[in-house]
Amino acid sequence: MNTEASKKAFQEAQSLIPGGVDSPVRAFKSVGTTPIFITEGKGAYLKDVDGNEYVDYVQSWGPLLFGHRDEAIEAAVIDAVKHGLSFGAPTLSETELAKLVVAFFDSIDKVRFVSSGTEAVMSAIRLARGFTGRDDIVKFTGCYHGHSDALLVEAGSGAATFGNPSSPGVPADFTKHTLLAEYNNIESVKKCFADSDNIACVIIEPIAGNMGLVPADKEFLHELRKVCDEHGALLLFDEVMSGFRASVNGAESITGVKPDMVTLGKVIGGGMPVGAFGARAEIMAMLSPEGPVYQAGTLSGNPVAMAAGYTALTKLKKNARVIAVLNERAKRLVEGMQNAAAKYNIPMQVDTRGSMFGFFFNDKPVKNFNDATKSDADLFAKFHAGMLDKGYYFACSLYETGFISTAITDEMIENTIQASDEVFKEITN
Ligand code: PLP
Repeated sequence: MNTEASKKAFQEAQSLIPGGVDSPVRAFKSVGTTPIFITEGKGAYLKDVDGNEYVDYVQSWGPLLFGHRDEAIEAAVIDAVKHGLSFGAPTLSETELAKLVVAFFDSIDKVRFVSSGTEAVMSAIRLARGFTGRDDIVKFTGCYHGHSDALLVEAGSGAATFGNPSSPGVPADFTKHTLLAEYNNIESVKKCFADSDNIACVIIEPIAGNMGLVPADKEFLHELRKVCDEHGALLLFDEVMSGFRASVNGAESITGVKPDMVTLGKVIGGGMPVGAFGARAEIMAMLSPEGPVYQAGTLSGNPVAMAAGYTALTKLKKNARVIAVLNERAKRLVEGMQNAAAKYNIPMQVDTRGSMFGFFFNDKPVKNFNDATKSDADLFAKFHAGMLDKGYYFACSLYETGFISTAITDEMIENTIQASDEVFKEITN
């Protein structure tokens, strides 16, 4: 496959933009190659500047549940644009999207919209601290919650990819209130509570997608709920990635564990920049201007983004079964690739939740970040390059999750499995 134009574009971008990208993982550094520059997307496909086409299993890192240029979302965006890009004043579209979010999530009585997942989490943490009057928070190694200072501690995603979880530029004083626990290990959480009686909240990706796909065990989440209750700490589910991907009603509907607060993003913006955080009314009442906890944003609740999100969630509301259909496809994909790998004696761990899928080149099940780091990164890089060359665009890091959109057909899945077989054969020969 000829990717000369992408290589040239990357060179020029690097001279003007640090690393040539506006978000580190996009640079393909962890797979040792250079990124593909995209010109357009349609349905399941991406097209690059060299004219190559790829089946897209990244979907803009999650938001595009209905694929690229979904007709209804595109029409809603165009219609919203015609009314004005931004007003910095209330619009009906915010209330309409809020109604949908509140209806989908039992644990959310009220929601506030922001412009990114990072902002949603940062604001939710402030609210949790304001509500409880406590300073400390507990996070899990390998979970990523955006790039705000206090949460950039042993984070997953791009931070994990670069083996540099805690970034220079974050003063130690800013992270001294962040306690770390191990994912799926309740004893490590209990230890945090033994060390501090000042814990405002425990934040967790209930279905972790930033150390590869590593769902939390149900029993662990139930224990976590119990420990939070015993100590009067809030439980915050960060569902920026898993929200409307793993299920339409949140991880609560899968696990039976009700969080106190939820953060959302990605799918709720239909591809536009949106984040949100919500909780029961009593907690949200602490938020300015109703309460004293300050939070604001010039472009928060942007009408174009609200229109895209509203249309995406309305489509889901009309056909909630779509998540189960996508899960069948996701399962077929990873199990097919796993069988192909087995033919060449390559051990592979696979898992899915709704339209999210993950795989590790690892001979043991992955339960936490430590397990994830034992995956064969070299093999992953070869797999990634081989699949890309055959026209299959997978996330360029073994610490990321894959996504199926409604535009991906059974035939594409079969072809992807076949291509993976050829790639495994090439790698092992
Ligand atoms: N929280 C989780 C669970 C995420 O997966 C992400 C991004 O991938 C974020 C927060 C940050 O969201 P954003 O990149 O929109 O700032």
